[in-house]
Amino acid sequence: MTDARSKILVVDDIPSNVHVLSRILKDDHDIYFATDGAKALELAQSRLPDLVLLDIMMPGMDGYEVCSRLKAEPVTRDIPVIFISAKSEVEDETYGLEVGAIDFISKPISPPIVKARVRNHLLLKRQTDLLRTLSFNDGLTGIANRRRFDEVMLREWRRCGRAQLPLSLIMLDVDQFKPYNDHYGHQAGDECLRAVAQLLAEQMMRPGDLAARYGGEEFVCLLPETDEDGAVQVAERLRRTVAERRLPHAVSHVADHITISLGVATARPTLDDTPDRLSQLADGLLYEAKRAGRNRVCSGGVEVAV
Ligand code: GH3
Ligand code: MG
Ligand code: MG
Repeated sequence: MTDARSKILVVDDIPSNVHVLSRILKDDHDIYFATDGAKALELAQSRLPDLVLLDIMMPGMDGYEVCSRLKAEPVTRDIPVIFISAKSEVEDETYGLEVGAIDFISKPISPPIVKARVRNHLLLKRQTDLLRTLSFNDGLTGIANRRRFDEVMLREWRRCGRAQLPLSLIMLDVDQFKPYNDHYGHQAGDECLRAVAQLLAEQMMRPGDLAARYGGEEFVCLLPETDEDGAVQVAERLRRTVAERRLPHAVSHVADHITISLGVATARPTLDDTPDRLSQLADGLLYEAKRAGRNRVCSGGVEVAV
């Protein structure tokens, strides 16, 4: 856990309230503030604070609405919100927690209590972030892991199915990696996998594209809203990028450097089908690419020339 200062967004339509909270917290944290709901949402999106302290009664958009909108937006959903309000009836507090707030502090505030609660929630947020990173990222390469891939695949399958959009999957595997390990050692093998993962992740150009480690020396790239032609272009670019990196592989039968083989499959997802078929298809095409000599892309049963 780092000692980096946390970012706190303070939202209150009365500037003196903002000042009071800011004075209490500014020594330990970076404070951003907004005096209306629209500005609060804008800052939350652009600054991605670690915590939001939110007033309820504000002209225009009230705090409940701000909180609901933060919770509805994937990028801001996980930012904890604490209501700080003069509204102190049980119903107010209950409603605040129902729209997604993590805590509720009544005005007039007590500075030590605000400090302590803020500290506790920030600690929890850090732990949650760390857990998420550990559970969704591959420990060796740092890119998305199989669990994250499975989750995103299911979500994109459903989304593309509803929107009647194509979904493409590239499955790829490092060529002759067992001899690489045997020749250079397991640690060099790990380094090589890190380098390949990095190259793949850098080649994911659209926000929805995802590169993940599928297991061992096998990786996947999920390309939502991408048809077969587009996916083949990406796959070919990946193949070229890895080859052009010229990571030495003295004992490969394919080249004197690291190469990859890729299978590309495209589906038009339907809601009563599952993504498994797409993975099997891509896996089969990857096998075809291996059989046809490696360092190549196979798609839809038709090999794309190297
Ligand atoms: P092909 O060209 O057909 O893909 O041959 P290959 O040798 O790459 O295929 P094979 O599946 O036989 O070998 C995969 C090797 O990958 C075996 C294993 O030692 C290595 N491997 C799998 N995971 C890791 C890892 O995390 N680190 C290292 N260093 N090696 C790994
Ligand atoms: Mg291999
Ligand atoms: Mg393999």
